[in-house]
Amino acid sequence: MIDFSLTQEQQILQTQARDFAQNEIQPVVRIIEESNNPEIEPWEFCQKLFHKGSQLGFTSLMLPEELGGLGRKCIDLAIVLEEIGAVDVSIACSYFNVTAAMSLFIAKVGTTEQQKRILSFVNSEKPHLFSAVESESNVATSDVFCPIQDPNIGIKTTAVRDRDVYILNGRKSSLITNAGIADAYFIIARTAMDKPLRESLSLFYVEADTPGIKFSKKTQLIGWNASHHAEIYLDNVPVPVENMIGQEGEAAKLLMLCPEFSIGVAASYVGLARAAYEYALNYAKQRISWGRPIIEHQAVALKLVEMMINTQAARLMVWDAAQQAETSPQLATTVKAPAAETFAVDVAIKNAQTAFEILGGYGATKESLAGKFLADANIGYSYDFTREVFRLGIVNFL
Ligand SMILES: Cc1cc2nc3c(=O)[nH]c(=O)nc-3n(C[C@H](O)[C@H](O)[C@H](O)COP(=O)(O)OP(=O)(O)OC[C@H]3O[C@@H](n4cnc5c(N)ncnc54)[C@H](O)[C@@H]3O)c2cc1C
Repeated sequence: MIDFSLTQEQQILQTQARDFAQNEIQPVVRIIEESNNPEIEPWEFCQKLFHKGSQLGFTSLMLPEELGGLGRKCIDLAIVLEEIGAVDVSIACSYFNVTAAMSLFIAKVGTTEQQKRILSFVNSEKPHLFSAVESESNVATSDVFCPIQDPNIGIKTTAVRDRDVYILNGRKSSLITNAGIADAYFIIARTAMDKPLRESLSLFYVEADTPGIKFSKKTQLIGWNASHHAEIYLDNVPVPVENMIGQEGEAAKLLMLCPEFSIGVAASYVGLARAAYEYALNYAKQRISWGRPIIEHQAVALKLVEMMINTQAARLMVWDAAQQAETSPQLATTVKAPAAETFAVDVAIKNAQTAFEILGGYGATKESLAGKFLADANIGYSYDFTREVFRLGIVNFL
């Protein structure tokens, strides 16, 4: 029998995450959203929240206890991120998911020395914020999935070995999450320009204060207002050889071992889908037309039920992928996690649009949350690969 009920421990975690999201994150998000000021630096407001959430264990949940973590499962992270995503999907994805997933990645594939050094911040006074760096402005990020074995296709940033350091040169896209505010960067670069892309990608752990790494000013987005994105310039950045994660050319293979990143994005988007549904439901119970609440008109009722059904379906896909991440990481990475992520984003986009419709003219005002839901949901379309390209990746494993 498959049991989808949460354990008592998971229910406590869910309540803790919900209280944190609603009582502490919500007021900060409101200040950022209402400021209407493009110059605002969200990290100044969110840093304290990130530290508090990390101290609650939300970025080290899945790390083994011997590395300072709580030794919990992927589904536990999904539970936490759904709660944070329901309040603000950009905070869930940018700060908590990136850091939790990259920490787990090190725990899985790093050497013992790397695990000790890179994860030494866990349980320290100052938790670390991570950034995962792949995309480049003049290169289609979708090239990572390209089956053509042409070395000219894909990422141009290079890493050339010079005795005990690799020298990194290149320019990363203006969409890099946490660029300029992170404590450390996981940067993908090519260690061979004469080999096909996937055989030449290597991964480097680069501390923020390494000479030669610079950042543009904050990129303005249409939504995700609580997050920070910028371009990264790498100008002869020396990275010690002991900061290479895995071996030369292994980055693509190693990242296949980490479905938790996609599952975290998916869970955050289930949160957004749920929030849009609950917001529309609440409105539909109060708004009166033709003498009765609009939820009593079947045209509205059917929309609400569809929002609820789709949200529940997306959540079950996330929990299924999280389960597979424990037992069959390969299947989780290639099929279950991208399927859950693309479906959750689809549902969030649909629910945001439906909430906008149910709110009538009020949905068009900045006073309502409909515009925020729409913008934040649509950003999910191309965060962490576009939906189509992610789906094209799945077809290879059917
Ligand atoms: C908010 C946000 C945060 C981000 N954070 C990060 C980050 O932290 N680190 C990072 O490295 N990147 C980050 N990105 C970049 C993101 O990964 C890319 O924007 C995304 O993968 C899309 O890549 P692209 O913009 O190069 O689109 P392209 O690859 O240029 O695609 C353009 C269009 O063509 C379609 N397309 C391309 N190739 C094919 C094909 N073969 N078949 C069918 N259709 C195709 C795509 O679906 C899309 O519609 C972020 C993006 C956003 C929006």
